[in-house]
Amino acid sequence: MSTTPLLEPTTVAGLVQIQSKEELIRQRLEDERQRLIKEAGIEERHEKHFHRPIENPFLASQRDKTTILFGGLTWKHETLIHGALESLGYKCEAVPVPNKKAFQLGKEYGNNGQCNPTYFTVGNLVQFLQNLEEQGFTKQEIIDRYVFFTAGACGPCRFGMYEAEYRLALRNAGFDGFRVLLFQQDGGLNQAEAAAGLEMNLDFFLGILNALNIGDIINDVAYQIRPYEVSPGETDKVLEECMDLLHEVMRRKRPWTLEGKLGSLLGKTSFAGTAAYVGKFLNQLYGDDYTAALREVRDRFDSISVDRTRVKPIVKVTGEFWAQTTEGDGNFNMFKFLEKEGAQVIVEPVGTWIMYMIHQAKQEARDLRGLDLIEKRVSPWNLARRFGSHLSTQQKLAKLTVAETVFKREYQRLVEALGDIAHHLTDQYELQRLGHPFYNSRAAGGEGHLEVAKNIYYSNKDLCHMVLSLKPFGCMPSTQSDGAQSAVVSQYKDMIYLPVETSGEGDVNAHSRVQMALGEAKVRAKNEMKGVLEATGVTLDEVREFVEEHPEMQRPMYKFGHRKGVVGVAANFVLHAAERMKAERRAKVAVQ
Ligand code: SF4
Repeated sequence: MSTTPLLEPTTVAGLVQIQSKEELIRQRLEDERQRLIKEAGIEERHEKHFHRPIENPFLASQRDKTTILFGGLTWKHETLIHGALESLGYKCEAVPVPNKKAFQLGKEYGNNGQCNPTYFTVGNLVQFLQNLEEQGFTKQEIIDRYVFFTAGACGPCRFGMYEAEYRLALRNAGFDGFRVLLFQQDGGLNQAEAAAGLEMNLDFFLGILNALNIGDIINDVAYQIRPYEVSPGETDKVLEECMDLLHEVMRRKRPWTLEGKLGSLLGKTSFAGTAAYVGKFLNQLYGDDYTAALREVRDRFDSISVDRTRVKPIVKVTGEFWAQTTEGDGNFNMFKFLEKEGAQVIVEPVGTWIMYMIHQAKQEARDLRGLDLIEKRVSPWNLARRFGSHLSTQQKLAKLTVAETVFKREYQRLVEALGDIAHHLTDQYELQRLGHPFYNSRAAGGEGHLEVAKNIYYSNKDLCHMVLSLKPFGCMPSTQSDGAQSAVVSQYKDMIYLPVETSGEGDVNAHSRVQMALGEAKVRAKNEMKGVLEATGVTLDEVREFVEEHPEMQRPMYKFGHRKGVVGVAANFVLHAAERMKAERRAKVAVQ
């Protein structure tokens, strides 16, 4: 075979020849590569990685002209958050409770296949902005003058997608560039760097936490009084007045700052920051602004006349966080419906969720203990590294335990100030103990094991006649816990438990299912009262007559205890009244 002799590479012609040969080889290799790819059916794609869209910033200089929108809780929580934000110098507005139109808008502008709360909340923001447009604002004015503030998380359920959903729906609705600000649920007490316009610092979080706690407690108290009020509508009237008062208290409250001699002494030193932090915490722990206001609220509520001899089934509402909280179309207006049907409702405080987050963080810290040493292959004899790792876990756990204790204490302080009739925060360790055998407490997302655990807790502790679980259509964690609930119900045969799937339609169907279960709960409440009357030997008329003579027993803040095995308010009240009646009779006989 004859070959073309190569020229010497030292000459120019030789170099050109070598380069063209290399080019030829490269070309042949590429051709062969393409042939093989084609043969194997492998398509070559250039990956385009996702980059978070660049957000228009919310700057501190825009604060005066920008309104912060927020929502998603009850109107009571939102009124207080409004006051707290105003006290920090922000312009703010709560978006209304989502309705069915919001749900339709969420479906129209958002992705398909979302969970039900996503449609409601995302559509609600779009609806609010569209209403602003109808009032005469241009789209650009709305984008420039408003921002939306909401909670964020990284999942594992669809909650991790809320932010993206808001952006998508806003873009589809023509509000591209509208700013959505997030605070991460597990982001700690200082997320100030997230957006200069909204400083998520200690003052901000203390304000929001106080608003949430007071909102929880006043909500609970109103739901306890309303079913027994003698004059219909009185509780709501007093509640509205009290909310105005509390809003004003929140609005006037100024964050604690280093002032006076201490301020001038520490002002320019490196201790100033720490001293300010400590001062703010102490002010939170020992300040009287909120407790004094709540004592005033207690007295106003106590002026409502109640009749606690009315026999009512108690329904504990659980389920997914938003579905069990919202007071509108998002859960078929279930609270109003239950009260109209003659039930007393126990609502779920946001505080349970906060305690759950702390509990989960502690569990994770314990689970991860020592894993860094394995990952970095630290020798068993490297005692310094081992001790350092152990210390860091202990420090984390200690901080979380302090947060847990302080939060519980603060909640309790507010409960006591408001007459001590609101429910205490449920113990997370007990909930874990009850729920874990049915739903692994390490399976995060949504309410995790709480849905199952609360069902057992409230039924077994004689706190309710029936548990109603509101589960949004398309909710992954609720679907999982539904499966576990069938095991719970088969083990605890006495419980009346009803799961209801909430969506933007189907109110009539949902209401009739609730009515049927409630019928059973009513029978249970009546039988319980029958048993109490037989055991005490008094009649309801005698009890009512006795209460008539003792006006303090007609007050909502009057305490009469809770007996083991007795659920209903009326049954417990009759037991207490019967004891007082007997004691008075005995006293009269002794005098004679
Ligand atoms: S818990 Fe359920 S309803 Fe709530 S965000 Fe997650 S998937 Fe959606």
